[in-house]
Amino acid sequence: MTYEFIDEEIRKKERQKAREAKKSRWWLQKKMSGICAYCLQKFHPKELTMDHIVPLARGGRTTPGNVVAACLFCNKKKGADTPVDLFFQKSCTNTNDFD
Ligand SMILES: [Zn+2]
Repeated sequence: MTYEFIDEEIRKKERQKAREAKKSRWWLQKKMSGICAYCLQKFHPKELTMDHIVPLARGGRTTPGNVVAACLFCNKKKGADTPVDLFFQKSCTNTNDFD
């Protein structure tokens, strides 16, 4: 029970940190580059979202090393806990029978 309480407290703090990080210089620079960290395509900065490599729900933190800019499409595809590499590998191995 104490665990859950601590967990919720940490998550609250991390969410707050993420809000602040969105105003920070390093995040704005990352975003202004316009490059999605997953598909490496260029987007308008407004189309990029903050994505945690290790999700907050799995103990990830809002630090420059754990935060990347991702386009909406990749962010959605990645979901909460599917590494995007695995997702693409899986979908590539099943493309042989199209007829
Ligand atoms: Zn992308």
